[in-house]
Amino acid sequence: MKSDYEMVIGLEVHCELKTKTKIFCGCSTAFGAAPNTQCCPVCMGMPGALPVLNRQVVEYAVKAGLALNCAVARFSKEDRKNYFYPDLPKAYQISQYDLPLCEHGHLDIETAAGPKRIGITRIHIEEDAGKLVHGKDGTGCDYNRCGVPLIEIVSEPDIRSAEEARAYVRKLRAVLLYTGVSDCRMQEGSLRCDVNLSVRRKGDQRLGVRTEMKNLNSFQFIVRAIEYEFARQVEALEAGEPVVQETRRFDQDTGKTYTMRTKEDADDYRYFPDPDLPPIVLEEEELARLRDSIPALPDERKARYIKDYGLSARDAEQLVTERAVADYFEEAAGRTAYPKHVVSLLTTEIFRLLSLSPAEETAIPVSPAHLAKLADLLGSGRINSGTGKRLLGQMWERDADPEQLAGEQNLWQISDPAVLLPLVKDALAENPRSAADYRRGRTQALQALIGQCLRATGGQGDPQVLRALLEQELNG
Ligand code: ADP
Ligand code: MG
Ligand code: ZN
Repeated sequence: MKSDYEMVIGLEVHCELKTKTKIFCGCSTAFGAAPNTQCCPVCMGMPGALPVLNRQVVEYAVKAGLALNCAVARFSKEDRKNYFYPDLPKAYQISQYDLPLCEHGHLDIETAAGPKRIGITRIHIEEDAGKLVHGKDGTGCDYNRCGVPLIEIVSEPDIRSAEEARAYVRKLRAVLLYTGVSDCRMQEGSLRCDVNLSVRRKGDQRLGVRTEMKNLNSFQFIVRAIEYEFARQVEALEAGEPVVQETRRFDQDTGKTYTMRTKEDADDYRYFPDPDLPPIVLEEEELARLRDSIPALPDERKARYIKDYGLSARDAEQLVTERAVADYFEEAAGRTAYPKHVVSLLTTEIFRLLSLSPAEETAIPVSPAHLAKLADLLGSGRINSGTGKRLLGQMWERDADPEQLAGEQNLWQISDPAVLLPLVKDALAENPRSAADYRRGRTQALQALIGQCLRATGGQGDPQVLRALLEQELNG
C-alpha cells in the first residue's frame, strides 16, 4: 500500500550564473546564438589553452551561499571530473570536489502542514557542458554552452513530498532571483533539477535505496516525475523486488521514468585538483563586502507582510516567491485602505489568470493603481466579490478604472433590504424543497438559496444581507 510508505527526496539544482562572459574565458554567455559562435580554444578544450577564473563567478556563488545561510569557505579549490561525452570536448569538467565554496546552509519553505526547514549540504561552482542537437541528418555539437558558469546546490534528503519539492525549488528560485545571481529561466535551462528519491516504510529511520532523475526543467516535470517514481518504487518493494540504485530519465510524453545507467556502470570520475588553476582564496573584507550587498530576501519581505498586513504565512510566501509580484503587491497595497482585498485578488483570481498565460515571466496587465481601486470598491462594499472578479476579467483585457467600468455597467452592489426582501420571498416560494431541507438542518440548502437570490439581482446582491434575510424568513 502506497500509504504505508513515505518518500525521501534530495535535490541537486544546477543554476546558470548571469555573468556576461564564461567561467574561464572571455566568450559570451548569451542564450540563443547560432551554434558554435561563442567558443574559443579555452572553452573548446584545445591542448595548451589555459583557463583563468572569472572572479564574478566566485562573487555570485558566494552571494548565493550567503543568501542560503551557508558557511563560505575562505579557501577552496577546483577539481577535474573526468568523463567522456561528445558535448564535453575537454573530456573533463572543472568542478569542485572535496572543498566546495559553500556548505551547511538551509532554506525555509511553507507547506500545508506549516513551515519547514530544508538543509543545504553544499554549493559548488562548475562549468556547463555543450549541447547535442539531434537533426534528421545526424547529431551536431553546439559548444556555445561549454564553460557557462553554474552553481550546483545540493540539498539534504529532507524533502517528503512532491509539494515540498516544488515549494523548495520555487523558494530557491526566488532567493536566487532576489540576489541577482541568475535569471533562473527554467525553459532556457538556466535552472534545472536532479531529483534523488527513495522510499521507506513510515516510521523507519534508515534511508532506502535511491534513484536519480536528471535534468528536470519545469515544476510540472518535477512533480510528475516524483509521483511516478514514488509509485514505481513502492510497487517494486511490495512485489518483493529491490529498488536498484541508478540514474533514470523522465519522459515528459509518457510521464514515466526509464533506466539510463545502473550502479554497475557507476562513474569513476577520477577527480583530482586542476593543475591549471590556483586555489580560490577569499579575504574577510571581501566576504564582508559581499554580505553587505545582499538585498532584502523573500523571508524578510514575508515577515513584513505578516506583520504589516496581517497576512497568513502561506499567503505571504505566495506573494514573495515572485519578486515582480511582491513589488506589485507593495505598490497596490500602499494605495488602498483594504490591502487584504489586494491579497485575495492576487492569490486567487490573478494567480489563476497568470497560470492561464504560457509565459513563465510574471506580467500583470492591470496597473497597481487600478487594482488598489478595485480593492477599495470591494472593501467599502460598493461591489460584491462576484462583481470584483467580473471587473478584474475586464481589466485584464483592458487596463481601465474599475469605478468607471462599474458605473458604465451599473454593477453597484444592492444591499438595501427593502429591495432584496421581495426577491428572498420569491426564491423561498419557488424552492420549497430547499427551504424544507434547511429547516431539517441541512445548512448547505442556504447556499443554494443565496445563489438563487443572487441570480435574481443579476449577480449584484449583497450576499451578507441576502443570507441574513433568508435566515430571518426561514427561522421566523
Ligand atoms: P551523488 O554525488 O552520487 O549524486 P550524494 O550523496 O552527494 O550523491 O547525494 C546527492 C543527492 O541525493 C543529495 O541531494 C542527497 O540529499 C540525496 N540523497 C542521498 N541519499 C538519498 C536517499 N537514500 N534517498 C533520497 N535522497 C538521497
Ligand atoms: Mg548526483
Ligand atoms: Zn571561450
